Amino acid sequence: MSTGSGNPEDSRSQTWTVLGLLRWTTGHFKDHGIPSARLDAEVLLAHVLEIRRLDLYLKFEQPVMSTERARYRELILRRVSERVPVSILVGEKEFWSRTFRVSSDVLTPRPDTETLVEAALERMTDPDRVYRVLDVGTGSGAIALSLSLERPRAQITATDLSGSALQIARQNAEELQVEKTVEFLEGSLFEPLAAEQFDLVVSNPPYLAEKDAADLPAELKHEPPMALFGGMDGYRVLEPLAAEAIQWLSPGGWLLLELDPEQIERVGNWLRDSGLSQVESLRDLAGRERVIVARRPLEEEEPERNSSESQSEERSHSPRVAP
Ligand code: GLN
Repeated sequence: MSTGSGNPEDSRSQTWTVLGLLRWTTGHFKDHGIPSARLDAEVLLAHVLEIRRLDLYLKFEQPVMSTERARYRELILRRVSERVPVSILVGEKEFWSRTFRVSSDVLTPRPDTETLVEAALERMTDPDRVYRVLDVGTGSGAIALSLSLERPRAQITATDLSGSALQIARQNAEELQVEKTVEFLEGSLFEPLAAEQFDLVVSNPPYLAEKDAADLPAELKHEPPMALFGGMDGYRVLEPLAAEAIQWLSPGGWLLLELDPEQIERVGNWLRDSGLSQVESLRDLAGRERVIVARRPLEEEEPERNSSESQSEERSHSPRVAP
C-alpha cells in the first residue's frame, strides 16, 4: 500500500512510491515554511534517484528502496533544519538552460541574472566582431560561461577575489567545454587585469546590505558572504565598480551591472559622474529593475577634457591603452 500519509522515517513496513514520497515531503516542507515545497521535493528526489526531475512523472507508482529513502531523508532534514538551499544540496543549478556546478563557495546563479545575460547578448550581435568581455566577480562563472556559449568567438576574461570560487568556475568551463575561450584571473575588481579595454564589462557584484542581513532568508547563510554583501550599506563594491569601469571600456563599450532596484538612482549618478552615458535600467523576470546599463561614449561624443589644471588628474583616469 502506498498512501504516503505517514512519515517515511517511521513506516518501514509501508511501500513508499515516488508519488507518495513527493506528497509527504511537499507537505512537510510546507509545514516548515519552505516556499517552493513541491519543486524542492522533486529536485531532491530526482537527485537521489539519479534521474531527471521530469522523469519522476513517469515513475510515480514505482517503489523507492530504503537506501534511497535514507539518502532522501538526510537531504530533507538538511533542507528543513539548516535551510540549506536545494542547489547546494544537489551541487548544481540551472542557469540560461545549462547546468552549473555550485557549492557554498559560490553564489548560486539566480534567474534574475538572466536579464543581464540577455542584455549583454543584445550588445554582441555583430557576427564579424570578436567581442572582448570582462566579467567582474564571476563566482560560478554563470555569466561569463553563458556568454561564451552563446558567442563562441568572444574573448572573455573573468575575475574573482575568491580562489575557491574560481576553481568552481574553471570546472564549469571545462564541463561546458568553453575553457579555451574564457580566461580566469584571481583578484579584486580590475586589479588582476593588464592594460586592456573591453567592449563589455559585466558584473553581478555583492550588493546586499549587511544591515539588512537579519531580514534575509536563512538560505543565504549557505552562500559566501563576500559574494552577497557589499558592506553595511550594500555599496562597498558597487561604488568603485561604477566609478572605475569606464577606464576598462573601449569607446562605445557597455557596462552592465546587476543591483538592487533601490540602488539604481545612486549607482546611475556615479556612472554619469564617471563619464558614462545612455544610463538605463532593465527589469528582471519578476518585473523589478535589476540591471543598470551604461555606455562609454564614442570618442567624437566624449566631452572635451583638456583644461590644463585637470590634465594630470585626467591622465590617471583615462584608459591605459590608446584605442
Ligand atoms: N540577488 C541576490 C539575492 O538577493 C543577491 C545577489 C548579489 O548580491 N549579487 O539573493
